[in-house]
Amino acid sequence: MSSNNIGYICTHLQCENGLADKTAFRFVDSDLNGTNYSFAQLDAASNQFANALKEINIRPEDRIFIFLPKQPEVFFSFLGTLKTKAVAGVLFSNFGKEAVFDRLADAQAKILITKQSLFKRIEEIWPDLPGLEKVILTDLPAHKSNRVLSYTQLVEHQSTEFLVPDTAPETPSVLHYTSGSTGKPKGVLHVHNSIHHQRMTMEKVMQIEPTDIYWCTADHAWVTGTTYGIIGPWSKGLTQVHFGGKFDTEAWFDLLKQEKITLWYTAPTALRMLMREEDKIAEKYDLPALKRVYSVGEPLNPEIVHWVRRVIKKEIYDTWFQTETGGIMITNRPGLPVKPGSMGKPIHGVEAGVFTEDGKGSPLNESGSLRLKKGWSSMFRAYINMEDAYRSKFHGDFYDTGDLAQMDEDGYFWFIGRNDDVINTSGHLVGPFEVESALLEMEDIVDVAVIGAPDEMLYEKVVAFVTLKNHQEWTRRLEVKARIHITKRISPIAVPSEFIVTPKIPKNRSGKIMRRVLKARYLGEDAGDISTLED
Ligand code: AMP
Repeated sequence: MSSNNIGYICTHLQCENGLADKTAFRFVDSDLNGTNYSFAQLDAASNQFANALKEINIRPEDRIFIFLPKQPEVFFSFLGTLKTKAVAGVLFSNFGKEAVFDRLADAQAKILITKQSLFKRIEEIWPDLPGLEKVILTDLPAHKSNRVLSYTQLVEHQSTEFLVPDTAPETPSVLHYTSGSTGKPKGVLHVHNSIHHQRMTMEKVMQIEPTDIYWCTADHAWVTGTTYGIIGPWSKGLTQVHFGGKFDTEAWFDLLKQEKITLWYTAPTALRMLMREEDKIAEKYDLPALKRVYSVGEPLNPEIVHWVRRVIKKEIYDTWFQTETGGIMITNRPGLPVKPGSMGKPIHGVEAGVFTEDGKGSPLNESGSLRLKKGWSSMFRAYINMEDAYRSKFHGDFYDTGDLAQMDEDGYFWFIGRNDDVINTSGHLVGPFEVESALLEMEDIVDVAVIGAPDEMLYEKVVAFVTLKNHQEWTRRLEVKARIHITKRISPIAVPSEFIVTPKIPKNRSGKIMRRVLKARYLGEDAGDISTLED
């Protein structure tokens, strides 16, 4: 039945429910000028895109990738792709060549939607992507060839009607990539059925009302941006604001006020940056329309909770989830008293547990692996091409999140840290292996190890230990070279904040980097048992 289809539910169903003329989103550009798009327009534009995909012979389960900054075509193409039962993949527009290549190659992407300025990165890698049939450019007025197409020319003659095919609940839907401690990023695949959990959390966590104006600041390349910036809100017929500008304290507060945002979903790093500029905002802005603030992606420190209460004069609710869970799992929400510093309690239908190394299930106030009982609808269904990695995440009935947490006597969960080497910098996961591989490509670097270290603003920062050729000194020139290299290969997010020259990288006898030792050295702590260190 088409009624299982995310694209259909977020558009056509809303029109059928009487919301055709309601604003689905207001796109606000960097000068804070807004344009409204109704649910009828969202339905029509995504139908046109779906028809265009049919015309170029896209079939169910083909992978269509979106590599764009925030702009209306992101939403039309994302939902249009889902309507055809093809899979929508998302890429961060700051990604460098290597990061884009790894993902497109692994997913065997057939179509890429991007714009001319980003296309330069694609032209260089396209010869090595034989599966990539066509690139569609949103700012190209007319087709350039039969492989480089204009978005406008492709959609303009298409019908605004599209009959969404029967979509079984387990039909693959969205593909995100997430970084792990080792190897290349993993492709996390979800299915159309995920919408049930996503919709439920809009009700129970966001506790939305039909008149709400909702702003999720996350980029659509990350799970928060797709689940809570596209699918969740539109599955409930909510009006969203999408901001095409960059982070800027005054612009953000102007937007909150001008657009009369009632529900605001953002992240701790952004809030810390706003806190830094309290003087600029505290006097100038009262936000009478704003009802609540929500946070995700990193631990929400109690200082932020107190600041939001004092300066913005609202309550802030921390929510915990990850790419693999597809939706909020553990969370604060209205009706549950907030304990500042805690992520709250599992949401309706979710069973969470803390498992210590000695196999104890859910001891109180003891740190252990955070696991979730499998079976919620937005649970990922695969790491594509990595069956073993997928299976290794499950222990009996439980999915292991890779996070460490504690549960207190009232059933509240407290985030302790990651149980692996993945670095969470400003809410973005960075795999140390990816950064190490890229740095090793530089001729001056003979060995490297990358760790995450605590940071007041970013939560964690990327720190690289490097061993240089011929015992060179680390120079400003080398640093700039390394920074540019990582930006171009991976993304600005992955650029190390610090480079530390070391004569030798500590490794165990099988050659594995002992990050624990480096981290301890960085923090001036005792590294503990180092008996496995190679001589
Ligand atoms: P991602 O898959 O990129 O969305 O990252 C998910 C990871 O971010 C989680 O496994 C946590 O390590 C971290 N994370 C997300 N939300 C929170 C939160 N509310 N508190 C602490 N860490 C969080």
